[in-house]
Amino acid sequence: MEVILAKSAGFCFGVKRAVDKVYEQIEGASGHPIYTYGPIIHNEEVVKDLEKRGVSVIRDEQQLRSLDQGTIIIRSHGVSKQIYQIIEKSNLSCVDATCPFVKRIHKIVERESRLGRPIIVIGNQGHPEVEGITGWAEGPVMVAESETEAEVIANNLSGFGCIVSQTTFNYNKFKDLVEIFKKKGYNGNVVNTICNATEERQIEAGRIATEVDAMIVIGDRHSSNTCKLFEICSKKCADTYFIQTLEDLHMELPITTALIGITAGASTPNNIIEEVQNYVRINF
Ligand code: SF4
Repeated sequence: MEVILAKSAGFCFGVKRAVDKVYEQIEGASGHPIYTYGPIIHNEEVVKDLEKRGVSVIRDEQQLRSLDQGTIIIRSHGVSKQIYQIIEKSNLSCVDATCPFVKRIHKIVERESRLGRPIIVIGNQGHPEVEGITGWAEGPVMVAESETEAEVIANNLSGFGCIVSQTTFNYNKFKDLVEIFKKKGYNGNVVNTICNATEERQIEAGRIATEVDAMIVIGDRHSSNTCKLFEICSKKCADTYFIQTLEDLHMELPITTALIGITAGASTPNNIIEEVQNYVRINF
């Protein structure tokens, strides 16, 4: 079978960097405990593999405060300033794998709020990246996820503010929400901090799905970016399959199938993508 594998399939730069840092720590650990603040990526397979290698996931601040030795790794989503302060006061050593694109938002938020500007984060309420970002504000900070929320915030906003976005937020929705602020008279800063890794992956997946007879999307069922890829590909190619690993692949393809496309979500490891790709090439 001929296969087109999306170049942007799998880990983005920030996630790859974070996962690599965890494996580097495992290599040099020699019995020393390793923790990640939240799962390093949204992929059950990877998290299970790391657990087997002695990496435990810390879920919240309280658990973090209870640790007295070892290394804590901050994932690509980043964390609030308070989490760094807790780590500094503890005996833990810290490996900071915050994606530099997220780090940039932390710096903007800290700087702008120090200037007395209210911060508006356009992003998903409760998302760890958004919680981390809001935790760098030294003054008022609000999150707008929907048009209604944007309207409420805009109605109560006074003075020159600063709008930033979650890195994985949809660009068109970001533009729409900013427009709401502007219509209400907002004339403060607007910094588009959306990372284009997600958009590039989506555009490429959609393009490949229009060219092939069947499409395979690999990723965790709980990963929202993988679900989005599946949705995009299904619209362009009726034979689109969503799998987590090779074991889920049960394709019943028409005899005329000649070309299969493969893409994968941002938290899908390379070895799973390779395995699926090789299997499809040889067995179909
Ligand atoms: Fe960094 Fe972009 Fe990946 Fe987020 S999606 S971790 S900002 S590279």
